[in-house]
Amino acid sequence: MPEAKPLYPIAGKRVWVAGHRGLVGSAVVRRLQYEDCEILIAPRQQIDLRQSDQVSNWIRDARPQAVVVAAARVGGIHANDTRPAEFLYDNLMIEANIIEAARQSRVEKLIFLGSSCIYPRLAPQPIPESALLTGPLEPTNEWYAIAKIAGIKLCQAYRKQYGCDYISAMPTNLYGPGDNFDVMQGHVIPALMSKIHRAKESGAETVEVWGSGRALREFLYVDDAADGIVHILKHYSDAEHVNLGTGDEITIRDLAKLMTEVIGFKGKLVFDTSKPDGTPRKVMEVERLRSMGWQAGTSLRTGLEQTYRWYVNHHLAEQRAIA
Ligand code: GDP
Repeated sequence: MPEAKPLYPIAGKRVWVAGHRGLVGSAVVRRLQYEDCEILIAPRQQIDLRQSDQVSNWIRDARPQAVVVAAARVGGIHANDTRPAEFLYDNLMIEANIIEAARQSRVEKLIFLGSSCIYPRLAPQPIPESALLTGPLEPTNEWYAIAKIAGIKLCQAYRKQYGCDYISAMPTNLYGPGDNFDVMQGHVIPALMSKIHRAKESGAETVEVWGSGRALREFLYVDDAADGIVHILKHYSDAEHVNLGTGDEITIRDLAKLMTEVIGFKGKLVFDTSKPDGTPRKVMEVERLRSMGWQAGTSLRTGLEQTYRWYVNHHLAEQRAIA
């Protein structure tokens, strides 16, 4: 289907991708290279996004017309659960600093990125955008979720009070090249990829999977997410946030099995039920995004194969070079 005429054409615009080194930010930079826009990135060594004066000076000097807020403190279930202060404070500061500095510098369009964990633990499934703030959050990631809900509300407040065209998109669980493959801090896909790959290499017979394996999750390949983000940036202008996902779900057990096939590990999976499952089910309703003419194109198997290739050829190669 040919793309409809955008509400916000980004051709010729200066677009700042905040968080360009992260999983999503780096994919957004890759995706924007196909648009006729100028991509701005802030050198990390020079700018701490938690410091408001540094952020406002950067925006004033760089003069972006559009901003993608992909910068965040992120991590998997263990990281979220054990570093609550960092997940709350860092994310609140990063988003508040960027949004306020964008207003001061008259940024025309801003897209704030959150996560599907903003929804109540026992939200209706698939989760519609309207489920926000209808019930208690999942305790293992409520700190991150509260910060991300505050980001949505900042965009809405700035739209209401100042007329800023600031919008929010909530991607589901993302994975892909550039992820954090640390087994303790990472999300399930990169953590299991590291564990299963190591088990294959060392000839181990088992791999430990956290939780019961029955939790259900939805996964979106990060280059699809970046494509969706650019689509929403160009085609959406309203107060309510937009879910960004596939609408498909899989149990952690089936995910782990699929990963053993992709990686070529012949041993067994062992489930450690002393570790948390987190929210029992988390799949988003994606009708709003579909009605804007967008849907994800990469199957989970293909996305996992591409991620595994990147993990072996780039991540491990880089680690060997450092060692
Ligand atoms: P969540 O979606 O916020 O719960 O984030 P995660 O991606 O960290 O975890 C998703 C699910 O995968 C949870 O039910 C975890 O218990 C489960 N899981 C299984 N093995 C692992 C692992 O090695 N690392 C992580 N992070 N999660 C795992």
